[in-house]
Formats: sequence, C-alpha cells, structure tokens
Amino acid sequence: VMERVINFSPGPAKLPEEVLQEAQKEMLNHDNVGVGVMELSHRSKEFMRILADCENNLRNLLTIPDNYKVVFMQGGGTGQFSAVPLNLMALKPGHKADYIVTGIWSTKAAKEAEKYGAVNRVITKMDKYEVIPKQNEWNLDPDACYVYYCANETVHGVEFSYVPETYGVPLVCDMSSNILSRHVDVSKFGVIYAGAQKNIGCAGVTLVIIREDLIGYALPYCPVVFDYSVQVGNNSLYNTPPTYGIYIMGLVFKWILTAGGVDKMEELSKKKSEAVYDTIDNSKGFYSCNVDESCRSRMNIPVRIGGPGGNDVLEDSFLQGAGKRGMISLKGHRSVGGLRISLYNAVSFEDVDKLVTFMKEFMNENR
Ligand code: PMP
Repeated sequence: VMERVINFSPGPAKLPEEVLQEAQKEMLNHDNVGVGVMELSHRSKEFMRILADCENNLRNLLTIPDNYKVVFMQGGGTGQFSAVPLNLMALKPGHKADYIVTGIWSTKAAKEAEKYGAVNRVITKMDKYEVIPKQNEWNLDPDACYVYYCANETVHGVEFSYVPETYGVPLVCDMSSNILSRHVDVSKFGVIYAGAQKNIGCAGVTLVIIREDLIGYALPYCPVVFDYSVQVGNNSLYNTPPTYGIYIMGLVFKWILTAGGVDKMEELSKKKSEAVYDTIDNSKGFYSCNVDESCRSRMNIPVRIGGPGGNDVLEDSFLQGAGKRGMISLKGHRSVGGLRISLYNAVSFEDVDKLVTFMKEFMNENR
C-alpha cells in the first residue's frame, strides 16, 4: 500500500486522518445498526441523531445565536450564488443588492444575482485581485436588500481580516474556504454559507446559517430545494439530504472540538501561514506573493518563483521536486499561474514545515 502524501489541494482537500479512520471503521456498520451511514434512511432515528449532533457541534464551535437557523443543502457554493438572490432579493421592493467583488468567486456570485435583481458592484472593477480597497471607498447603497462578499477568495488568496460594516443592511458571506479557521461573530451576519469540501468535509453538502427574520421572502419562482424557508421548516429533510456528507462534516466538527475548537484552528492557521509568508518574504525576491499584506490569506497562498511574473521552468521544476518528496496539489489556478499553497484546518504544522524546508532547499539550489 502506498503511503499517504501531503495534500495541499485547494479543494476537495485533505481531511483529518482520524475522521477518515472513523469513517472507515464504521463503513459497514454504524453504531451497531448493522448497516453503514450511506445505507441508512434519512428518516431513521440513527440519521436524525447524526444530523442533530452535527448541528449542535457546529452551534458550539461558532457560538451560533438562537435566532439563527442551520441547514444542510446541495448544489455547492455555486448553488448558493443562486439561492442567495432567490431568497433575499425580495426583502425590499427595489430588488437591489450590493456585491463586494474581490475575486473569481464573488464575480460569479454577482453575475448569477443579476438574473434576479439589480446588482451594484460597490468597488470599481480591478484588473488583478491583489488588494481589497478600503471601506471608505466603497459605494454602498442603503436601499440594498443585502451586501454580499466572499471572506476568502480561494483562487487569488485574498482574505478579509475584518467583517464589513453595512449600517444595518443584512450581510451575506461566502465562507467556503475559510469557515472554522478563524473566530467569527455570527451575529454580524444575515447569511453565512460554505461548501464543505475545503475546511469541513467532502463535496456534496453545503452548510447555510440564516438569521430567522430573513426567512420567508423567496421569489415565487425559487426552486423548492433552494427555498430557505422550506429547508428550515423541514430541518433539511424536505427531500433526501446529502446524508454521508453530513455525517463526514459531523466527524470533522467533533475533530475540531477535540483539537481545541476554532481558537486552536485560528492559532494554527496563523502559525502555518506565517511560516510560508516568512519564507517568501525572506527569499529576496526568489519567491513572491503579489497579494497586498493587508489581505493575505491564511488559507490559500499564491506564489510565483523567480520574480513577481513567475518563471514557468522554475515553477514546473518546483512542482516536480515537491511531488518527489510526497507533496502534491501545489499548482496555482490556471487563471493566475505559479503555485498555490492551501493550508486548510486538516493540514498540520508538520506538513507545512516539510514544505517550507523544501522551499528553502529549492531556493538555495536554483537562485
Ligand atoms: N466559493 C468559494 C470561495 C470557492 O472556493 C468555491 C469553489 N472552489 C466556490 C464558491 C464554488 O463552490 P462549488 O464548487 O461547491 O460550487
């Protein structure tokens, strides 16, 4: 059997080994029911328990206030690009929404929302996504139904280090690539959502946290599976939910709780990302990260080798060398090139230490 490698994938991404082992142990027989979780009815009392535990552990981890509902949906992050406007665009008569576009994912969300209402891009379009313009330069519309942003742009490595001030307008956040990696005050948000396949589980399930008073405004043509009021009203069981994905997510939540909660994940992700950024910043230009320091991501770090524009030959050689040392999925997104180092919760400091050691070695041999 081949050994496991170190996986720096942007997603689907590394899962904690303890989670995979637990799932393996229970594959054929969950909790002495005699069948595995994939074979359990979503209406069975055993699955009800998996669902309730999953939600309760999440509520614990994020200190979710009582006036927020938690649902588990399908359709991924992209499904929520549609679900958000379908559910919130009718909160006010003007059917308008503000979008803070800071990269590819918020661009796609804004484009999708245009099908359902008027979209105001609050910052001027940027050629490159390497900085988040200051809040006092934003053009927020006080009559917007909601303000939308992406907390961490996975492709560009641009992460908000603060929660935007919206002066009472409900705030909607795509936390797909940084949820549970840092402390968040849920009470500042109207809706938070996250696809599971990066920080909290496997592809197929999307977590949505919704403030109660925003439920019940879906547009008449909103597909029933995307209607927040239907999902909330049926405790995510209007139709068959992604049962196995919910189970894995629940195991990940337990793993985080055991490891020390969100505070511990935040401490670790600071330490992991600092190790990489320090290596870049001390490389005298051999490595570069073109993202402004104010919004450098702790989760996804885009890196160029041999100058800010990158050198394809060196970058290929780095990827090959890393591969030989058992480190994979470090290739940058095709739209930005270079490398991308993804440091989700399941990636350990030891994993990062190995990578950083190789980065230094490679620099000394190739500069
Ligand atoms: N938002 C962010 C921040 C993402 O990184 C991604 C996927 N990489 C998406 C949305 C889209 O998610 P999905 O592929 O689950 O539709």
